[in-house]
Amino acid sequence: MSCLDSELYQEIRKCARCGYCREKDENEICPVRSIIGFESSYARGKLHLARLCLEENTLHITPKIIKKFYLCALCGNCFKHCPLSINTPRIINELRHRFLQDYNPLHDPNIIKNLVSNLCHNPTIINDFIAKKGNIGPRLYQLKKNNEEYLFFSGCMSESNKKSLESILKIFNYLDFKVNELKQQAGCCGMPLLEFGNKDFLLSKLSVNMNVFKKIGTKKIIVNCPGCLYAFKEFYNTEPGILDFIHLTEFLNDNLGTFDMKKGIQATYHDPCLLGRYLGNYEAPRQLLLKMGFALKEMPRSKDESFCCGGGTLSIMYPDISREMSKSRVKEAKITGSSLLLTSCPLCKRNLAGAGEVGIEIMEITDLLAGMLRRGETRTGFPVVMNPEIKIKQIEERSVKNVIIG
Ligand code: SF4
Ligand code: SF4
Repeated sequence: MSCLDSELYQEIRKCARCGYCREKDENEICPVRSIIGFESSYARGKLHLARLCLEENTLHITPKIIKKFYLCALCGNCFKHCPLSINTPRIINELRHRFLQDYNPLHDPNIIKNLVSNLCHNPTIINDFIAKKGNIGPRLYQLKKNNEEYLFFSGCMSESNKKSLESILKIFNYLDFKVNELKQQAGCCGMPLLEFGNKDFLLSKLSVNMNVFKKIGTKKIIVNCPGCLYAFKEFYNTEPGILDFIHLTEFLNDNLGTFDMKKGIQATYHDPCLLGRYLGNYEAPRQLLLKMGFALKEMPRSKDESFCCGGGTLSIMYPDISREMSKSRVKEAKITGSSLLLTSCPLCKRNLAGAGEVGIEIMEITDLLAGMLRRGETRTGFPVVMNPEIKIKQIEERSVKNVIIG
């Protein structure tokens, strides 16, 4: 079958070039275009390029052209605004996969250099990416309380940040769950390489991890990283009812009581693209923050209109553009006047914090929550007192005066 008969080409051809994926009410839709401004940087231009690439003899496909398909955060905002529901991020990812033979970013020394500097705190991850060993170190923890049983899949991002992982385990303890690290080894979910276009890597991980999950037998699996969660829900969970993958914020929102804080510190929340636009989880993190006693002030662009922080493949392929995106997102958070910018994705947190903006505290919700718990306190032990380790004093000073914590 020729490329021109393919479902992919037919979807690309649907583009009416209307430009709804460019701006809405004078606001940029595409975070990449908001930084570099070219026609080729947002969905309409990319679809045009994609069409030329597939129409034989129209364009000589060089690595330089293929790299333009990596100039996309796969954030999904263009898809959300397209009146014809053209799924540009899916198309872009499919093209990355098709062109992997002609240009593989993981064989490009410059990209490897960025990858290493991006992940230098975790040599296991680097080794796996480069040597394709297949195990980048996520661990499995079993949680038990009475008849309740869960499995926690740590993911490489939380696993590579010791403090962040400790926060999560501390919260499980606080909720009276007995936590056991299991001997069984899980592998990478496959999502990082899927974003590079390597679908085969994800599929190879799928059967290995599914076998591990099934052998352990726990049906409810808690996941912190929205990337892992998306991979599990979208690609792994092919047999409905066998396994139930849930985001950590959903689990915590269901299990945590309401904190007795007399007046909430104002905080704003950044929706990770994969947790929000891709998986539709907007409420659990917000409800959780309200339960913790924070007053939530939304950014001008939030929920399904949220603006990407520039994480993922883009931060490795185009670190400077990614950094500008993070800076612009943190500036947007500062406009709310909040002293805290919270998120529920370890990668977003790292990216936003890496923007180097001062004047706002950037944290994962779980780091904040763990800092609020007294050591050894059970959930019946309210009220909760803030722990100095989260620098609450500094947060208060930047926040509204006279904040009283119960
Ligand atoms: S909004 Fe959809 S149809 Fe319109 S230019 Fe963008 S991708 Fe094409
Ligand atoms: S997925 Fe996001 S970054 Fe990529 S073209 Fe669409 S709006 Fe731009």
